[in-house]
Amino acid sequence: MICPSCGSEYREGFTRCADCDVDLVESIVAERENLAPLTLESSGELVAELTDRLEKAGVPYAIEAGTALNLLDDPGAEIEGPEDWAARVWVAKGFEERGERILDQIRDARRLEREEQERRRSGR
Ligand SMILES: [Zn+2]
Repeated sequence: MICPSCGSEYREGFTRCADCDVDLVESIVAERENLAPLTLESSGELVAELTDRLEKAGVPYAIEAGTALNLLDDPGAEIEGPEDWAARVWVAKGFEERGERILDQIRDARRLEREEQERRRSGR
């Protein structure tokens, strides 16, 4: 079993990646030799910000997004309807570190923003 987000391999019996909290797949069908998976996100807002920042930073990227992502990983799978929206973001090999750094910055900024909002709500 493989995590479609980070590529970690798991023994049979595992169904979810402990790091990414996403469902594991049997195999990643399309070999993407020159792309490295950066992240799997369920927030369109975050993805929009991320791709914008990657573009400005000159980091080549590709995204796969939609409500049937599982079918990209496992074309034979059957789904009953749209699943939760998710997007997978890839960066060209060699740009992984810059991609990670940008993603971390965005996550930090979003966390600070959330904390700030909570502080204001609680009136402190
Ligand atoms: Zn993972």
